[in-house]
Amino acid sequence: MSERTDHHLGHTGQTGRTDEGSARVLVGSDLDRTLIYSPRALALDMADELAPRLLAVEVQHGKPLSFMTERCAELLVQLIEVAEFVPVTTRTRAQYQRVHLPGPVPGWSPRYAVCANGGHLLVDGVTDQDWHARVQQLLADNCAPLDQIVHHLALAADPEWTLKRRVAEDLFAYLVVERELLPPGWTEELTGWADGHGYNVSLQGRKVYLVPQPLTKSAALAEVERRIGASTVLSAGDSLLDAELLLAADQGFRPGHGELADSGWTAPGVVALRETGVAAGGEVGRRRGPLVPPAGLAQLQQPPPQQPPPPPP
Ligand SMILES: [Mg+2]
Repeated sequence: MSERTDHHLGHTGQTGRTDEGSARVLVGSDLDRTLIYSPRALALDMADELAPRLLAVEVQHGKPLSFMTERCAELLVQLIEVAEFVPVTTRTRAQYQRVHLPGPVPGWSPRYAVCANGGHLLVDGVTDQDWHARVQQLLADNCAPLDQIVHHLALAADPEWTLKRRVAEDLFAYLVVERELLPPGWTEELTGWADGHGYNVSLQGRKVYLVPQPLTKSAALAEVERRIGASTVLSAGDSLLDAELLLAADQGFRPGHGELADSGWTAPGVVALRETGVAAGGEVGRRRGPLVPPAGLAQLQQPPPQQPPPPPP
């Protein structure tokens, strides 16, 4: 057992919960376009006066960048009270650390978080080095070197529609593109090439990701499941990179928008929500309620044991 694992045995979280009482249900959720939304992803297609109030959960360069509905924030706080909630994102650690999710107490942050599509498991905000070393070995044994992917992307990405080329955490690569200018068939061709080199391609908003196939969100969430001894796992996500996360859970949820919805992807155990845009975030929060097993929920919601009444004088 690693030193870090020892460190969080018997850990009491910021809500005062203990491992024994709180860890039975594990909820792993993607962030972008599942729980939190950039202005261009909000899809507020109702009349302005009917639009939900929004909470800014991320600021970049002094400007608000990501939002959730106030209702989603309320539901998330309720969820955190009864389950181990784990953000599971493709974001780098730096990108993740800009996100401040609502919680039961000011300054709350999730005890576990999965970043870099599973490449980093944060425990109390700090990278678990054992986990990261295991991932690096897995990629070295199974995938083409990242340099080769970066080189191919440099040739394949036309500067005409490529805004940025980035390497994330030395684990995967992505482009920021003018999506409407992508040539027809370009993504499919890249997907075929990448597959031959052990990589998956995912197109999310303006980003084209090339991610090593063994670098998965579900593997990292399974590690959290193992550590906390969860009996039930729920998950949510919208993109191709989330498909295996949804499949690995007892119950998965996907919004009515995104790569999975656009391709009509569905699977047993995965609920396809009708809601799109930021409204889908709240729906993910609402739907999970009945899925937390009643016995477990009752147990988790029990008030702390009362002190016995003082003996009569
Ligand atoms: Mg997403």
